[in-house]
Amino acid sequence: MTSTPSPVIEIRDLHKAYGGLEVLKGVDLSAPKGHVVSLIGSSGSGKSTLLRCANLLEDSQSGDVVFEGEPVRWRGHGGHRRPADAAQVRRIRTNLSMVFQQFNLWAHLTILQNVTEAPVVVLKEDRAEAEDRGRELLAKVGIGDKANMYPAQLSGGQQQRAAIARALAMRPRALLFDEPTSALDPELEQEVVRVIKALAEEGRTMVLVTHDMNMARDVSDHVVFLHKGKVEEEGPPDTLFGAPRTERLRGFLSAGQ
Ligand code: ADP
Ligand code: MG
Repeated sequence: MTSTPSPVIEIRDLHKAYGGLEVLKGVDLSAPKGHVVSLIGSSGSGKSTLLRCANLLEDSQSGDVVFEGEPVRWRGHGGHRRPADAAQVRRIRTNLSMVFQQFNLWAHLTILQNVTEAPVVVLKEDRAEAEDRGRELLAKVGIGDKANMYPAQLSGGQQQRAAIARALAMRPRALLFDEPTSALDPELEQEVVRVIKALAEEGRTMVLVTHDMNMARDVSDHVVFLHKGKVEEEGPPDTLFGAPRTERLRGFLSAGQ
């Protein structure tokens, strides 16, 4: 028996609606330290919403969001529930770095500036040290030679790797990826997949929303299949992909992503 490490981020029985539209209907999700959890499911099943609720970019109506054992404190309830403690929200957000489908790099900053801005401004790191570390992170993701270029001068795959370096620069406790390869041409996708695999191998805690079933199978410790705002099936990747139990997951997998 191997025991599961304690979760960096945990979601319990989360309910979220946009107006009358119930998008998350009691979802549980746990990302144990050092594990990779992949979130799969059809478009509109609530994957992005769940990630956004996890790092408090989005409010929710009920259920718990727990960061390193510390439950988010709320004031009010139901549709009026808001996080009560702004310092807690900042701590959680800075410790859960997001990587988005569309990279979201700052167009007017160089790649190195993109990677060093938040550590200097938010974490109050010394600029020269942040730049040294930024260069190391760019080298780590294979774009050490692009430090002084602007995002528009890079390919999509290079931009996404810069976005990953930027996320790492915040020294997060976990990385949250929302379809990091979906905007990329197939030949550029693989260079991003390689970086994500390397991060998994070095024991980073990650939640990975992806349509790339091969990557999910390769890198995950645990896979969660979301269907219409509920966890329909979950388990280790070999079981989930090799022997899906539910008709819905079988249908989703055979539809070909
Ligand atoms: P996924 O990432 O799995 O494709 P999303 O979490 O983006 O799904 O969306 C889940 C559902 O919530 C969809 O029906 C979507 O239209 C709806 N939704 C997402 N964001 C908003 C929003 N800001 N306002 C209203 N509805 C939204
Ligand atoms: Mg989405």
